[in-house]
Amino acid sequence: MPLFTPGRRYQLPYLPSKKKSGQSYILEPIERMIKGPLFACRMCGNCLLQETAFVCPMACPKGLRNGPCGGSTSEHCYIDPSYPCIWYEIFDRAKKMDREEMLLEVLPPLDWDIVGEETWGEVVRKVKETGTKTFFGSFFKKDAGERKQIWDSVFKSIRQPDWWQGDDQYHPPGYEEPVSELERQLRSGKFVVAAEISPPASTATGKLLRDIELIKQYATSINFTDAASATPRMSSLACCEFALEAGAEPVLQIAARDQTRTGLQGHVIGASARGIRNVLVVSGDSARLGPKPMSRTDILDIDSVQMLWILRRMRDEGIYLGGREIKNPPQIFLGAAAAPFASNPRIQAIREHKKVNAGAQFFQTNLVFDPDGLELWLNELAKRNILDKVYILIGITPLRSLKMAQYMHNQVPGVRIPDQLLKRLEDAGDGVEEEAVIIALEIIEAIRNKEGVNGIHLMPVGWEQVVPRIVQELDGAKVVASSS
Ligand code: SF4
Repeated sequence: MPLFTPGRRYQLPYLPSKKKSGQSYILEPIERMIKGPLFACRMCGNCLLQETAFVCPMACPKGLRNGPCGGSTSEHCYIDPSYPCIWYEIFDRAKKMDREEMLLEVLPPLDWDIVGEETWGEVVRKVKETGTKTFFGSFFKKDAGERKQIWDSVFKSIRQPDWWQGDDQYHPPGYEEPVSELERQLRSGKFVVAAEISPPASTATGKLLRDIELIKQYATSINFTDAASATPRMSSLACCEFALEAGAEPVLQIAARDQTRTGLQGHVIGASARGIRNVLVVSGDSARLGPKPMSRTDILDIDSVQMLWILRRMRDEGIYLGGREIKNPPQIFLGAAAAPFASNPRIQAIREHKKVNAGAQFFQTNLVFDPDGLELWLNELAKRNILDKVYILIGITPLRSLKMAQYMHNQVPGVRIPDQLLKRLEDAGDGVEEEAVIIALEIIEAIRNKEGVNGIHLMPVGWEQVVPRIVQELDGAKVVASSS
């Protein structure tokens, strides 16, 4: 069994936040001394090595415990490009060890009360409970299922504390009637158009309100991004409220980058109380993309999978993280981002599968310019049997200029623009905007009948006036806008 992860990014281990108890004086330094060199262990207090093919995920500079962020690639980490993303090493090793399906378990955020403390005392207690002979005998068992059962009896209750209870199963939503217009339209089976507006960078609301008025006639729902590119703008929540006042259906976006577990829960309770019914959670662009001085990139309290898990349980089980009852739980249709081109489609499909299990009911994908590549990703989702559990809206952007297209192709993680499209934009010269619309329409036409595609998510990136034209030129009979 391979233990070392050569070339991994070393990060200092955590220290306990409180005075050690008796056995910690002995066990903690031993655990540090052994697991440090073997796994680059950071003493997170909640060991996941079992589920991550024995590669410690805490080498991720963001501390992501449920998979890579949308910005990483198989070649490099998003935050520190001089190292490969640790999650791709985990995927590689899990495949070699036939442990890929174990990556589906929804893993908890850190409990900072025990971070930095030893975990072996608890492991020893659990081994005794299971039976020392049974546990060590499992090393020689040929049946992988039997071996897993014994190991789970020791490790599962440690890595899945009572306040989390994560698993690798799909949990259907705990309600019958659609909670939003977006959900209602998606359930109806029609081809849905959603759109996105970038919030203003000041308190002036004129353009925002004009854009909402324009787009609400052509899109079922409107997303408002949450500090895209890690750059401060009007909050998504405030924009959603303006949309509601204007009679439009908003989608609240929440980036894990700027959230704590406490903030997230309060944010969504407030949003639901105000009548916002669609919530889309994302990891959020790295602070590296934002203005200077850069904020910390190595602390993320919760990741997007954990956000889904927390919000789904708030809605369906009526509990906050930790188990406190919510008398009137939030009513929300839960979405997540999906990245068909961030890495190889098989790996992405594992990531999307985990999000569906955690609670994602709809995906809005990263920008798609390659319908054939999209098909590979959809096929991988189909193999995982999740196409009937999640609605998929494909991200479409009309490329208004060659410069914009080149920037997206070269700088935006997970976006791939085929050479022939770049050439068409170049050849179009002054007619580039017209060519951009034609390309967008061709892509929509090519993807709209693919199995698993439920609609499009138009991201005009400041060119909101193009939305009516694109929607009008689609086959009106199949497209659903809020006016229908
Ligand atoms: S998951 Fe936590 S306890 Fe396990 S090796 Fe990594 S840092 Fe150490």
